[in-house]
Amino acid sequence: MGRALIIGAGGVASVVVHKCCQNSEVFEEICIASRTKAKCDALKAKLDGGKTKITTAQVDADSVEQLVELINSYRPDIVINVALPYQDLTIMDACLETKTNYMDTANYEPPETAKFEYSWQWAYREKFEKAGITALLGCGFDPGVTGVFSAYAAKHYFDEIHYIDILDCNGGDHGYPFATNFNPEINIREVSARGSYWENGAWVETEPMEIKRVYNFDEVGEKDMYLLHHEELESLGINIRGIKRIRFFMTFGQSYLTHLKCLENVGMTSIEPIEYEGKQIVPLQFLKAVLPDPASLGPRTVGKTNIGCIFQGIKNGEEKTYYVYNVCDHQECYKEVGSQAISYTTGVPAMIGAMMVMTGKWRKPGVYNVEEFDPDPFMEALNKWGLPWKENFAPELVP
Ligand code: NDP
Repeated sequence: MGRALIIGAGGVASVVVHKCCQNSEVFEEICIASRTKAKCDALKAKLDGGKTKITTAQVDADSVEQLVELINSYRPDIVINVALPYQDLTIMDACLETKTNYMDTANYEPPETAKFEYSWQWAYREKFEKAGITALLGCGFDPGVTGVFSAYAAKHYFDEIHYIDILDCNGGDHGYPFATNFNPEINIREVSARGSYWENGAWVETEPMEIKRVYNFDEVGEKDMYLLHHEELESLGINIRGIKRIRFFMTFGQSYLTHLKCLENVGMTSIEPIEYEGKQIVPLQFLKAVLPDPASLGPRTVGKTNIGCIFQGIKNGEEKTYYVYNVCDHQECYKEVGSQAISYTTGVPAMIGAMMVMTGKWRKPGVYNVEEFDPDPFMEALNKWGLPWKENFAPELVP
């Protein structure tokens, strides 16, 4: 079928590379390019010898010039951006210049302010339309599969969806007193920010971790979960018709929260640069350097994740409730691809999203969120490629 350029060589990229190699009919060739080429080469060494031809390259994805040069020399059908949210715009610029399809798993965030929203990337719509190329935004699990679940619920089960609660539960235990499951800098910026949810066409803001609920998750059990701001709330608020409220909850254990509060209180989570021994350092970046690398958690993490969406709305004049979710086992993921479930649940949908664009099922000039495309082929692919979903038509609701 074709070739993909994968940018980034971290936890998520590793799963994307494994999954592309399993799907060699679509991904005949891949190039893994990142800041540290040794990490790309290590991934290649693990997977070489299969049907997918793997090459590697060094690239600074903050430089449009370097990206354009790489894309022009490799000529991929799509660029899969699994570097960091800071690189989204430079990679989109390079895709525009070279007329190449684009995909990512997280929306743009300026490095100097912990604020993420789609406005910067949505501003590229017209340019992508004119260039005749597709940009698929936020195609991990959340955002990503949560948007596909929403489009699927809207297509098959509801005339109008009024309420969505997205529940992200990680029942895994890595045995460290404190570690994050994906890039610590991005993760801590997300969870230490003010919370918010979308209600009647406007944002309602909360203090960080102000709203707590307890939920009994299938195959995991009872967990504390907290309301967070999350990027898919913004696009679903626009793309799901009739919506009145969308909330996002994530589970956190008490030990994680106590450590985070302490780190915050001493200033370690700040993104304001400070002077240290004649050098400017950002405390949060320093903290990242001393925390365990999320990619190293795989062998030690046990337990399961359960991520999904509860919908309430109307079908044929009657009230209806629908819960669709995936349960993923950390150790099973590790056995299959050498990563824990957080990277796995992000990397599998990223591969599927790239496949949707490459096979033409989701190809349309412009910039799109996943819920704007037909969910059916994606839902089918989730079952096939390692993230089967379950349905419940009478779930426990979140107060
Ligand atoms: P990692 O930190 O493990 O990996 C990031 C990779 O990007 C590293 O290989 C890093 O290089 C590379 N990189 C960083 N800056 C540059 C640059 N300027 N040029 C080239 N390469 C660069 O992160 P994760 O794999 O955990 O996360 C990847 C993405 O996935 C993030 O955007 C994250 O927000 C997103 N994500 C999305 C989720 C979802 O469900 N939608 C869930 C989890 C994550 P180096 O090795 O040199 O540091």
